[in-house]
Amino acid sequence: MNAFSSSAGAPAVGKVWLVGAGPGDPDLLTLRAARLIMAAKVIVHDGLVDPRIMAMAPASARLISVAKRRSRHTMPQDEINALLVAEALAGRDVLRLKGGDPFIFGRGGEEAEACAAAGVAVEVVPGISAAIGAGAAALLPLTHRDAASVVSFVSGQCKGLSDQNWAGLAGVGRTLVIYMGLAGAERIADKLIADGLSPETPMAVVESAARPDMRVLRGSLAELGAIVDKQRVQSPAIIIIGAVTARADAAAKDQELRQLALEAEQ
Ligand code: SAH
Repeated sequence: MNAFSSSAGAPAVGKVWLVGAGPGDPDLLTLRAARLIMAAKVIVHDGLVDPRIMAMAPASARLISVAKRRSRHTMPQDEINALLVAEALAGRDVLRLKGGDPFIFGRGGEEAEACAAAGVAVEVVPGISAAIGAGAAALLPLTHRDAASVVSFVSGQCKGLSDQNWAGLAGVGRTLVIYMGLAGAERIADKLIADGLSPETPMAVVESAARPDMRVLRGSLAELGAIVDKQRVQSPAIIIIGAVTARADAAAKDQELRQLALEAEQ
């Protein structure tokens, strides 16, 4: 019996597990996700899943990549939905593995609906979303009693950007986290400034959070586009805007100073 099978014997219809793989580091998987990956027979995964996590799957597992990139959709969403349903109806349990959390900009909702419509049971295993992972890895609290009591997650994908109303999501006491904002970074900054946000608002770009090649780039909102451009920031990266990003600077500096003091003592 593996982690998927029910005690009542092999079901005629398989089940779909929508599993969050977190931001990268395998240690940030939930125990349930790790257990399912290590017992999986069929894994349908997207491009954001860290290779170290894919390496946890059994050698016998069938790995199906449906990698999505902004400009290169290898498999349209309705085909992914159809694939999950077809595998399950053929009696196979399917592990649908996604970066971060399946229900935060992960299209998990669409896949769950498609499965439900076909009579296929779905279970969701949450994962650490990029915003949470980036905040932790960059020592950057998304809320702080002295700096922010509101945090918003938005998608910065260019489509319809000008129609979106982000007024009120950023500014004093608020943290704005932008997923998929790299390509539109300059336009996003311009839009927020036009909506009344100070160009001096501090921000941070966290590239490859919770991965060995993580970079944290800090600056002001006015500098966002230039920083992304000049530093050649690569996907995946998340943009965090608000006073908490400046506090993190101070916290990191404090830690650096304490470390220096400790080394000087030795
Ligand atoms: N479901 C995912 C988000 C998918 S959308 C989650 O909950 O995290 C893809 C976007 O997530 C990327 O464009 C990037 O903005 C962000 N992202 C995912 N992994 C990341 C990482 N390790 N570091 C920084 N940003 C990441």
